[in-house]
Amino acid sequence: MAKTGTIVIDPGHGGQVEVGDSSANNAISASGVLEKNITLRMAFLVREQLINLAAAEGHQLTIFLTRESDINIGLAARAKIAKTNKAHLFLSIHCNGSIGHNARGTETLISPLADGNTNHAADQAFAQLIQNAVFNTIKSHDANAKDRGVKDQSLGVLKDKHLGTTTRACLVELEFIDMKAVDVLLNIGPNSLQVRFDIAKSLAKALIEAL
Ligand SMILES: [Zn+2]
Repeated sequence: MAKTGTIVIDPGHGGQVEVGDSSANNAISASGVLEKNITLRMAFLVREQLINLAAAEGHQLTIFLTRESDINIGLAARAKIAKTNKAHLFLSIHCNGSIGHNARGTETLISPLADGNTNHAADQAFAQLIQNAVFNTIKSHDANAKDRGVKDQSLGVLKDKHLGTTTRACLVELEFIDMKAVDVLLNIGPNSLQVRFDIAKSLAKALIEAL
């Protein structure tokens, strides 16, 4: 079935300084690749896959990226791009890190009911599609993939007051990039380009399914 809709993809972080509660970078991979660069690269790949799928399957998509270069934008301003353009879906892309550099897994975050999220159930269903897409793709390449599930978390970029009440929104933490095995999988290993491509394709499919 051909779908019509507006999708905003938000590559987390960017630039050199914090802007509007958005830090320039958070996680750093074991080999030194910055989260802000991984998220931007993934956003470009997802857009490319959305365009390819739309052409092949007849979908009418309007796609926005909150940034297309190494710049930072405040959290509210990112969300507002969805509100201004009456987006159906807002997907923020991030990577995780842990203090002991020993955690693994994919998780997807949504705004809690307690934050005044007026479409929590719809966000949850959308986030589950995104979570399944990323986790299943990583699992197909790596038996140590871990499904950390969909979770409520209070995040500025997901707040209804910035997004509006009709956009479904979630934030995916692709993996813990400070684990060496994940760095090999996503950044520096011989198969990393294919893994990133497969994640982008699965995310694009999930976004279209969610419309
Ligand atoms: Zn982040």
